Amino acid sequence: MSTEAVRTIQHRIGGVETAGVSTRTARVWNPATGEHQADVLLAEVADVDAAVQAAKAALPGWADTSVMRRSRLMFAFRNLVEKHTDDLARLVSAEHGKVLDDARAEVVRGLEVIDFACGIPQLLKGEYSDQVSTEVDLFSFRQPLGVCAGITPFNFPAMVPLWMHPIAIATGNTFVLKPSERDPSVCNLVAELYAEAGLPGGVFNLVHGDKVAVDALLDHPDVAAVSFVGSTPIARYVHERGTANGKRVQALGGAKNHAVVLPDADLDRAAEHLIAAAYGSAGQRCMAISVAVAVGDAAEPLIGRLREKARAIKVGPGLEAGSEMGPVVTPEALERVRGYIGSGVDAGADLVVDGREIDVRGDGFFVGPTLFDHVTPKMDVYRDEIFGPVLVVLRVGSLTEAIDLINGNEYANGTAIFTSSGQAARTFQRSVQVGMIGVNVPIPVPMAFYSFGGWKDSLFGGHHIHGPEGIAFYTRAKVVTTRWPEETADGSHDRGDLHFPTAV
Ligand code: NAD
Repeated sequence: MSTEAVRTIQHRIGGVETAGVSTRTARVWNPATGEHQADVLLAEVADVDAAVQAAKAALPGWADTSVMRRSRLMFAFRNLVEKHTDDLARLVSAEHGKVLDDARAEVVRGLEVIDFACGIPQLLKGEYSDQVSTEVDLFSFRQPLGVCAGITPFNFPAMVPLWMHPIAIATGNTFVLKPSERDPSVCNLVAELYAEAGLPGGVFNLVHGDKVAVDALLDHPDVAAVSFVGSTPIARYVHERGTANGKRVQALGGAKNHAVVLPDADLDRAAEHLIAAAYGSAGQRCMAISVAVAVGDAAEPLIGRLREKARAIKVGPGLEAGSEMGPVVTPEALERVRGYIGSGVDAGADLVVDGREIDVRGDGFFVGPTLFDHVTPKMDVYRDEIFGPVLVVLRVGSLTEAIDLINGNEYANGTAIFTSSGQAARTFQRSVQVGMIGVNVPIPVPMAFYSFGGWKDSLFGGHHIHGPEGIAFYTRAKVVTTRWPEETADGSHDRGDLHFPTAV
């Protein structure tokens, strides 16, 4: 490990990079080499307050900025993000560890949310009803909430924040982002791009930090709404504490996504997609497939194909050409994943491919693709979100059993079915209690103009994220009833009456 001083990643408050009063820091690793490559500041309560005050000061001007100007600014920001796709992706890969192409794809999926936010004039159109009662008209429109906060996970350091702030800002709110402390740098570049696009200082603020910063946001009286994405225990906590403090909260949690493979599926294709969905980004995706449910005769041929393909994956540094799968994010993550592999073996599952045997040069946090067969619902490797490159296979006798298994799981983010039967697919999509469903599509992440979200312990709160529900989350409606009575000679018109008004 190098003893040279490393750079310190700063907050950005009111358009200015600052350390505020922060003195605590966290290590940012290079997961591919095991090096300590930077320190990130950890905000104190006063830093969070400074960011919220900057956002509050910018709010009246920004909320009053015309919707066309907000849209044009989003468009300028969008073009800068597109221009800097590679720079953003390199920062993601360097700190997260995912391979560069995957990091680029994450930036592109985030860009699509900005594309969506550019359409804000259309998205914010209200409704108008003429003559709902005699001489009475009725219309609705939506206004921003105020200062909104985002708290985001390490696994999509560019995309997940982009699910939030473009929509919050386009709808006229100001924003404080608290990204993951494990791979924070990309958000500093995003903040610079907003400034270059012409966003007034204070509309987008960045505070780095840990639980201290999160709690300060959840308790701050001037924060109107909180969007959270991360693990289920923290999502539940954020939702409970934020709503107890009177805030609007959407909190997306963890996942254990099942893919059902029926015997009538194209098994070559299904195995290829399962491999990509289980091991892409070293399994550190909330929509990763971590459970394959093999129905009936599908099991044997499927396992054979998965074994062969899992062994063929090229594991290596994310920034090295040819790598298909990078390391996991931290030494702790590596220990956790290795521990789960041991626990699966101890519980009696059949370890078909052992990722602990992988040998990549250097001290990076590498664990290879791992495949378990004959896993049962009671085993930890089935029940827990491992969040690493571990795919477990459960064998069941029928589609009904597969659906029951999925519906018995506490997580309900995404799921998929591989089949050539339209009827089986229809039964599946209507019966599974899961928010996002793929039919022969292993990672069914909706496009930005739809909303993203799971059910049960994968999401707390009433709104999914981005798309139409994102617009609804970051705004609230006003409904206005108007009457402009004509004067009559005898004043008979428009008399008040003590009975409850009904249409006339
Ligand atoms: P995490 O829950 O550890 O951290 C998420 C955020 O919460 C970070 O900003 C972190 O600083 C903060 N945090 C951590 N511990 C806290 C505490 N005790 N009190 C207050 N705040 C705290 O999640 P992670 O490890 O960064 O990300 C991986 C998790 O996120 C996985 O569970 C994954 O499934 C989930 N995830 C879900 C979605 C989704 O859309 N549902 C998307 C991406 C990731």
